[in-house]
Amino acid sequence: MKSVEEADYVIVGGGSAGGVLAGRLSQDPACRVALIEAGGSDRTRLCTVPGMVSIIHTTPKVKKRFDWGFYTAPQPHGAGRRIPYVRGRVVGGSSAINGMVYVRGHRQNYDDWEAEGCTGWGAADATRCYKQLEDWEGGEDAYRGAGGPIAVTRSRDLVPATQALVEAIAETCGVPVVDDYNGADQEGVGACQMNARGGRRYSSSEAFVQPALARPNFHLISGAAAARVVIEGGRAVGVELIDGDRRRIVRAAREVILCAGVIGSAHLLMLSGVGPAAHLRDHGIAAIADLPVGQNLHDHLFVPMTFLAPTARHRGTALHFLGGMVKEAMHKGDTWFSRTVFDALGFVRSSQAERGVPDIQLHCLPWSYPSPNQDRPVRPVVDKRPALTVMPTLIYPKSRGEVTLTSADPTAAPHIDPHFLEEEADRRLLIEGMKLVREIMASPRLGDIVQGELHPGPAFTSDAELAAELPNRIHTVYHPVGTCRMGVDDRAVVDPQLRVRGVDGLRVADASIMPRVIGGNTNAPSMMIGERCAELIAAAH
Ligand SMILES: Cc1cc2nc3c(=O)[nH]c(=O)nc-3n(C[C@H](O)[C@H](O)[C@H](O)COP(=O)(O)OP(=O)(O)OC[C@H]3O[C@@H](n4cnc5c(N)ncnc54)[C@H](O)[C@@H]3O)c2cc1C
Repeated sequence: MKSVEEADYVIVGGGSAGGVLAGRLSQDPACRVALIEAGGSDRTRLCTVPGMVSIIHTTPKVKKRFDWGFYTAPQPHGAGRRIPYVRGRVVGGSSAINGMVYVRGHRQNYDDWEAEGCTGWGAADATRCYKQLEDWEGGEDAYRGAGGPIAVTRSRDLVPATQALVEAIAETCGVPVVDDYNGADQEGVGACQMNARGGRRYSSSEAFVQPALARPNFHLISGAAAARVVIEGGRAVGVELIDGDRRRIVRAAREVILCAGVIGSAHLLMLSGVGPAAHLRDHGIAAIADLPVGQNLHDHLFVPMTFLAPTARHRGTALHFLGGMVKEAMHKGDTWFSRTVFDALGFVRSSQAERGVPDIQLHCLPWSYPSPNQDRPVRPVVDKRPALTVMPTLIYPKSRGEVTLTSADPTAAPHIDPHFLEEEADRRLLIEGMKLVREIMASPRLGDIVQGELHPGPAFTSDAELAAELPNRIHTVYHPVGTCRMGVDDRAVVDPQLRVRGVDGLRVADASIMPRVIGGNTNAPSMMIGERCAELIAAAH
């Protein structure tokens, strides 16, 4: 940890958004930037080599080093389960331990934010930021960027079973096979894009924090958790952090920016006196700004459906993993070990879809996936038979949950209750998605490939049986957003400049500011939020 007492910008959280923001701000040698990160270094092959991340997620002792270890409250619509709520605690944040799937979302998502008053966040502004971030293997065009710090490539050499699955999805759903779902139109099915290249993960650490370390104006303070924002006379003037067994303050000459993620940023604001006044009072914290911090929590859910397919891949054996490592050593960056586990993605419309925007995402894997109702013993059981897995995914959930304090002690985990599937429309959509997947798998295109459904299996056939089994099967995609909502109304926590309402010198920039989750995976949008925040700060100063 570097010892620094003051910086112009003090950023809390070196994750997807915070890493990008810190990297961008420190490109100006006149700006002193301090980045406070609770976790340690990501300079280990566990984080930097794509295939190795599975060790983190399946080995409890290793996981402890990189994950906050949160659990949700028992979920009434999730069979009463307390669902593990993985969040990266490491330089690079969740981008250092995630699945690397690269999706921007539908362009309409951003235009909707703008239409609700979030000026400067429409599709045109978002596209500019994405273009600045990307080094897309397909080269630059009106939508895509080349030459940026984040390498984006496509899954290659799909197994024949996945190729047939892609065609089956296109035919059954009446959508095109698309070359680039991040381009002009999202709707369709095609090879998954990922932030990896040459056997290396392009997290925000790889692309932004590591290059910044050589700059004399940049200070990374890792292994130190922020305890609160210091607010004096209505202005954020620094951050108090827990440095071993003592507390110290890093002062901010210009601004404090919270990038601690959807749980961390809401938690820190409340510990600092920014949140629902009555709730803060219950914990002995005086309210400086009475705002609905922690509300509007929402997340994507999927249901893994696995089908026996002898020409797909085996999974889950030590031999399979070791084989991957050996092949990767011989053919660097060119094996399944150097990629995301997802082969293809589909974006299709359900009967509830509004304004022609796809509302079901299909995550496709060439192997089986751990069944989520086995996550209580922590080490998931993977079906080792060769299989295709398709996960119908609810991308526009209507249910809303919350993050609240359990204590004024900053080391106590907050209470996380996503209220999964509380809204009936969410349950209906997932059941429709499951039935759609069955229709796809029964398509003649897959006749020689698919030999029956392994999970959930034929025991769950009617709508009533699927509805009864759904609570056991739902799985978070780890895409929570919304707890420090951006907007222009009285219930907004930050304004469209990402400034916390009622406190000067304080912004939030991470997944927590999304008013509504975008239709796709949330890592690229979180990095875009970091990029956009850097633009807003540059314009303000
Ligand atoms: C297992 C997993 C798989 C995923 N797979 C994908 C995927 O394939 N594709 C995709 O697009 N998205 C994926 N996601 C989601 C995506 O990674 C997140 O949406 C995104 O990283 C959120 O970015 P963020 O900046 O908001 O938060 P984070 O990246 O989580 O960063 C927050 C940072 O703040 C730090 N922090 C928190 N509190 C404090 C504190 N008090 N003091 C100091 N530091 C603090 C944390 O340690 C962390 O480093 C996945 C997430 C997980 C967990």
